[in-house]
Order: sequence, then structure tokens, then C-alpha cells
Amino acid sequence: MRLRCSDCAAEYAPTTSFQCRECGGILAATYDGPLDADRIADGETLFEKYGNRLPSRGTAAGDEGATPLLRADALADVLGVEATVYLKDERRNPTGSFKDRALAPAISLASESGAEGVVTASTGNAAAACARYAARAGLDCYVLVEETAPAKKLLEPRAYGANVVRVEDLFAGGEAALADLLRDVADGLDAYLAFAYQPFNAVLAEGVKTVSYEVAENLAFDVPDVVVTATGGGDNLAAQYRGYRELRAAGLTSRVPRMVGAQAAGAAPLATAVDADADSPVDVEEPATVASGIAAPFAGQHGLDAIRDSDGTAIGVGDDALVDAVTTTSETTGVWPEPASATVVPALERLADRGAVSADDVVVLTITGSGHKHTEPVEARLEDVPTAARDAAAVAGAFAAER
Ligand SMILES: [Zn+2]
Repeated sequence: MRLRCSDCAAEYAPTTSFQCRECGGILAATYDGPLDADRIADGETLFEKYGNRLPSRGTAAGDEGATPLLRADALADVLGVEATVYLKDERRNPTGSFKDRALAPAISLASESGAEGVVTASTGNAAAACARYAARAGLDCYVLVEETAPAKKLLEPRAYGANVVRVEDLFAGGEAALADLLRDVADGLDAYLAFAYQPFNAVLAEGVKTVSYEVAENLAFDVPDVVVTATGGGDNLAAQYRGYRELRAAGLTSRVPRMVGAQAAGAAPLATAVDADADSPVDVEEPATVASGIAAPFAGQHGLDAIRDSDGTAIGVGDDALVDAVTTTSETTGVWPEPASATVVPALERLADRGAVSADDVVVLTITGSGHKHTEPVEARLEDVPTAARDAAAVAGAFAAER
């Protein structure tokens, strides 16, 4: 694997961070051969199946991927959506989110390249995944979090032995300021920068594209008509789209889905750009949403390009609707998504209202992370559980009052 500039085609070593030094273009991974149908059929793990399209040998990998694609008929019924709807249940990854796919190959690459430490900035899923794979590889892990990050969110990375530091106004200074900080921190620690945003690190998105490989295999190498996925900076959506393009390039499928980005209305750099028909993502002064996993102040051009290239769209979802969707999804499918993931449900509803999905369409909603990961927005809405005397009538009375 080599990294190649998307604009001028200059090539770089696999561990190169940030954009092209010649022209500022976004780097992307490039490989010698296409996806291999025999390898996919014979392999079991992510690296056995897709290793020739991943950026490392996977020395730190283990147990990620192979998540189920679940029919969600009851959810579609409740939403009044006539299309066939599936959930790609990424909660089943080892740390409960799709970020394990991103970090397994990236931390393996760091280890295989001789790094002794890795650094990331995240308040949630990427930090947990980074810490897990660093632990598996025996690397030091450094995590920067926002000053206000809830202590509960730091438990999982700390359980894996990560060093965590709160940083004032970490994400508030915009993309360039964050890039400068992370570059200096990584240099100072002599650590590999494993930040989940393609303009900073082009390797992490490579693992995420395997979501699409699996969906296609589950659908007997047909592809969905529409994929709806939560996305903040656009990486997740662009990476899944990349997977579908690679499947088509390998001759395994004949088309690509329309890619739909579900964003929080208060942090919607892509949806705002789509609504305004803008050429670039629109920066968000102060992201305002309970969906912390996608509270993005900025997004990359690669996300908007994937939306436009696939004839897709991006939709901003209000906080009330996305928290409602946590419950709706859990009750109708048995899949408990985190609030950021749940944005896909109101986004699908909006598409249906617009007539943008038909009864013939197959829709995949990517459930990026588990409800266990982020409980506060749901807890905040619940009333206290009542207490009854140890008496059947009292218990029945308490249940009656609940209903
Ligand atoms: Zn370039």
C-alpha cells in the first residue's frame, strides 16, 4: 500500500500524516491489485478476506468486523417506509463501534513500522478503539479529550491502559489549529498520529470501507440502493463509499449505492452544504448537539464529493428526533444504537417523505455504535423507576401507574 495525493498523484510512505506536501490535496491509499473473490470466499477474518486492500498486515488485529446485516421490517413499518430496510450492526465490534475497523489496520501499521506509541484525539469511540489496539500491539497510547468530556467516556480507553489528558478548547479552533496541535503533540511524543479524519490520516478510513465489502457479500454481491450512515467530518460516509467503488472496480458488483449522511442539525457541515448547494462543507461555529460522536465543527471535501458522486444527500436531524430514534430502533429491532448512530432513522424517514426511497429500494442503515456507549441523552428523558412494596398488588399497581 502507498498513499497517493487525490489531486496531483504524488506518492507517500504509508505512515505519512496530513495532506500532500506538493499541493495540499487529500491523501488516499492505493494498492496493486483489486479485491479478490476467492480470498473473500475462503477467508474468515478481516485480514484473511480483504488483506490485499488493507494498509497493514494486521498484526494487532483481532475479532473486528463480520458484523450481521439484520432485516428491520418492524422499524420500516413504524416509519411508514415501504423499502426493504437492513441494519448493519456495527455494535458487535470488540469495543462496540465501527471504529475498531479503522484502528485495527492503523495501529497494526504503526506497530509494523516500528512506532512505540500512538496518539489520537477523541471523546468516544475512536479513543476506545485506539486504546484497545495499542494495548494488543504493546504500544503506548496517548488520548487527547476535550476539557468537558464526561469522566465515564474516559473509562474504556483508560481500562486499556491509555494515557488521557483533557485539553482546553481542543476542537474549538478549527481544522488548521487542530492539525498544528496534533502534529506537534505526535512529534513531541514520537508517536504515530491515529486521528480518525482522512485529511489528517488516510489510513484509518481504509478499514472502515470493509463495512461495505461485508454488506455486499451478505447481499450475494448485489448492493443496496441507499446507504444511510451517521457522519460528522465525512470520513465514515466517504470510506463506505470507497468500499462500494472498490467492489465495482473489482467486477464483484455492478453499481454503487446513493450515500446519505445523517448529521445532527446543530453540527451539520455536510447537510448545510447540500442544502445551500455549496461547493465545500460549511464550518460550524459552535457544534450544538447531544450526539457527541458526530458533533463536528468541520468536514472534509471527500465526504461532500462522495455524496455528490453517488447522487446521495446529507440530512440534519434535530436532537429530539435522534433521541426518540434510539428508543424506536431498540424497541422494533432489538438493536440499541447510541444517539449519534440513531440519526439514520429520522434521516430515512425524511428521505421517504421526500419520495427519495421507493418500495423497490434496499436501504442499509449503518448502526455505527452501541447504546451502551452514550447513555446520558436517553437517561435525561426518563422518569425515575418507581418502587413498590414486596406485594403483588403493590407491584401491579406500580406497573399500572407506569402505563
Ligand atoms: Zn498533491
